Amino acid sequence: VPGTALVTGASSGVGLFAAKALVDRGWHVVMACRDTDKARRAQAALGIADAAVTHLKVDLADLDSVRALVDAFGATGRSLDALVCNAAVYLPRLKHPERSPQGYEISMATNHFGHFLLIHLLMEDLKRSSHPSRRLVILGTVTANSKELGGKIPIPAPADLGDLSGFAAGFKAPIAMASGKSFKPGKAYKDSKLCNMITTQELHRRLHDSTGIVFTSLYPGCVADTPLFRHTPRAFQTIFPWFQKNITGGYVSQALAGERVAQVAADPEFAVSGVHWSWGNRQTKGGKQFSQELSEKASNPVTAQRMWDLSIQLVGLT
Ligand code: NDP
Repeated sequence: VPGTALVTGASSGVGLFAAKALVDRGWHVVMACRDTDKARRAQAALGIADAAVTHLKVDLADLDSVRALVDAFGATGRSLDALVCNAAVYLPRLKHPERSPQGYEISMATNHFGHFLLIHLLMEDLKRSSHPSRRLVILGTVTANSKELGGKIPIPAPADLGDLSGFAAGFKAPIAMASGKSFKPGKAYKDSKLCNMITTQELHRRLHDSTGIVFTSLYPGCVADTPLFRHTPRAFQTIFPWFQKNITGGYVSQALAGERVAQVAADPEFAVSGVHWSWGNRQTKGGKQFSQELSEKASNPVTAQRMWDLSIQLVGLT
């Protein structure tokens, strides 16, 4: 049943193609992007009809901007039937942490805190929707799940929130990592994606039974040629897609990744709350989705509760 979906970061890559795949299913997509002119150009380039989308502005790194997005969404008068938390930054070459307007390390601020606040502020809308299968979908990744080979690679270090003492201490300078340990930009991305997957699991535990909303995350495959990798070295941007296509077989096109996000957000077979969907690390033609087991770090309810409580404080919801 088509409805309205809000997709963050729909101006590029997986989010853009997810918007297209949802529109192709008859959905209306609210494209929530930091650069709405870029989003409009991207929409036109893919031939998505103007009437099928609404453009709203958000800088997910800025908690005030997230609040403004929620107000702007409310003003559209639309019901919210699916929320897709897709936007992310990956900044592996930063020498020093970049800071959000609230003073938080930028990858954690954008990928986790912005979405965490957005989810809380839009939850009443999702609850109110009369859509028969309301969904909340968050993009996870293999490199933050140590149950899988891709999550065991210690470059620069595996995802690990430690005892969350960095969050507990307020997460402002000089603190840059959730664990409170020294800054590693590539790890900051993995940690933020680990928080995304923990958030999905905790939403499922806390809210699925009482609301009926389906909470899921997914790994769409290695979409090795999206602009996510724009801040990696030039040679990496050539070698990585080649390696994923020819050696690991993990490569997935942006169109297929977007289609997978749309499936998880809208298709009947994906209406199972608490699942982390994957199509595996080595792609096979016509490969089927399955429920991928998550690591202890992503599924431990004690860590999840602490991460949740501290995030509530850091986004100013107390
Ligand atoms: P892209 O860089 O192509 O897209 C990221 C999107 O997020 C863009 O629309 C970007 O906007 C937006 N964005 C970045 N920062 C902000 C911000 N502060 N406020 C609002 N929007 C912002 O990357 P992908 O499509 O590859 O990544 C999409 C998701 O998929 C991410 O969550 C990523 O972790 C996940 N993923 C990607 C994989 C891959 O191999 N590519 C593998 C597994 C998961 P703008 O266009 O203005 O830059």
